[in-house]
Amino acid sequence: MNSVEKSQLFRELPSVDEVVRASAPLVEAHGASAVTDAARAVLARLREEIRSGPLDSSSVHIALQGLGRAIEKQVAQSLSYSLRTVINATGVILHTNLGRAPLAGPALQHIAETAAGYSNLEFDVESGERGKRDVHVDRLFRKLLADTGALPQDDSKAISTIVVNNNAAAVLLALNTLAEDGEVIVSRGELVEIGGSFRIPDVMAKSCARLREVGTTNRTRVTDYENAINERTRALLRVHRSNFEITGFTERPALADLAKLARTKNIPLLEDLGSGSIVDLRTFGISGEPNVLDSLHAEVDVVTYSGDKLLGGPQAGLLSGRADLIARMRKNSLFRALRVDKLTYAALAATLLAYIKHDHAAIPALRMMRLTKQEIAARAEALVQELRPTATKWELEMVDGESVVGGGAAPSAVLPTRLIALALPGSAADWLSARLRRCDPPIVARVEDGRVLLDLRTVFPEQDRAIADAIQSI
Ligand SMILES: *Cc1c(COP(=O)(O)O)cnc(C)c1O
Repeated sequence: MNSVEKSQLFRELPSVDEVVRASAPLVEAHGASAVTDAARAVLARLREEIRSGPLDSSSVHIALQGLGRAIEKQVAQSLSYSLRTVINATGVILHTNLGRAPLAGPALQHIAETAAGYSNLEFDVESGERGKRDVHVDRLFRKLLADTGALPQDDSKAISTIVVNNNAAAVLLALNTLAEDGEVIVSRGELVEIGGSFRIPDVMAKSCARLREVGTTNRTRVTDYENAINERTRALLRVHRSNFEITGFTERPALADLAKLARTKNIPLLEDLGSGSIVDLRTFGISGEPNVLDSLHAEVDVVTYSGDKLLGGPQAGLLSGRADLIARMRKNSLFRALRVDKLTYAALAATLLAYIKHDHAAIPALRMMRLTKQEIAARAEALVQELRPTATKWELEMVDGESVVGGGAAPSAVLPTRLIALALPGSAADWLSARLRRCDPPIVARVEDGRVLLDLRTVFPEQDRAIADAIQSI
């Protein structure tokens, strides 16, 4: 369509005022401002579709006939929740923008059971006295450690766990408690930024600890840490690189060697693990990812990690480590400011209990990691077969690809998958992916090489139907 024809179509669109005047019952029910906003949004969308999309004269006329219904739908949508379910067809399992880990069934159930009424959140039922909210997670974590043999038998070295709002808060609390007005030694190869607002040097500054950089971007040795230790040193900090890799001429001390140095000098070793898996990821075909239990085994004094990354639970920051250090952290008034609510405790406890029961299948993130390429291919094939007879204008193809673990697992943590490649001749892939996002529920796909790609690894099987329906409706 040329630009003259397009401007002709633009002129056929009614004005916002005309649409509002034609929607008297809606205005009566919801007020003029809601209907005006809806009219603006719907007309802007039509204009955009004429400008960039496949709308020709006849489809514009059809759209105009349905304008009343579209406005009604838009008003209803503006009065509904803005936080809602989306279908994650990106294949990124722990997608920060899509809410990271989906919660396990038992976690949702436990939230519903305990949060709808009163609970013993800070109440010792046995003694009838005030209790601590930490006990609910601490107890389970000890059990988990005991099961894996990672818990030191020596009581003085018992491991405690506390919970704060997220891992950024956990790092802040750990640094402020142990190193306020002192120095913390970090390798130059580990001064990371995680998604914009979390940068190690900035968190360090906010904690009132001074950053002491050692080594170089690519190589840091134990002796670099050792030479930097002085009377102001309060901690050694090791940071998981999470979202990048350094390859080539590189060197980094083994965790155990760093722990040995820390013990000799009587300075605590902190490790910001980020993702914090508590299972062996090699069984999922992912190697080289550190693990909370390995770090505690290596006698790191305190590890910090997220609840909603590889752990597969709610948003939270966990601090696990030497009981005496954790006790100091829970006495810090920052802990009170950063603490989590009963919903988080309920979800976290249920998630940890699933690990203790070896019920890994209950945890959606782990379940998605376990899916084989063959299982995903079978579902994708079924979906394509179902669509072929009706979605005749579509180009549907199956291609090999990779799913991404995400959420601060190393960027190389990928899993083989089978993708559905979608194309609609005459429409750009960006238009198509935007159109999929406007479905209900919105479908979030990947766009690569001018094609829209759907990875069913991160789609719940019960959502396959909604994807088929959505494609047929476009
Ligand atoms: C993800 C991550 C963080 C931030 O964790 P949040 O739970 O998002 O606050 C901090 N450090 C590392 C190494 C991470 O991977």
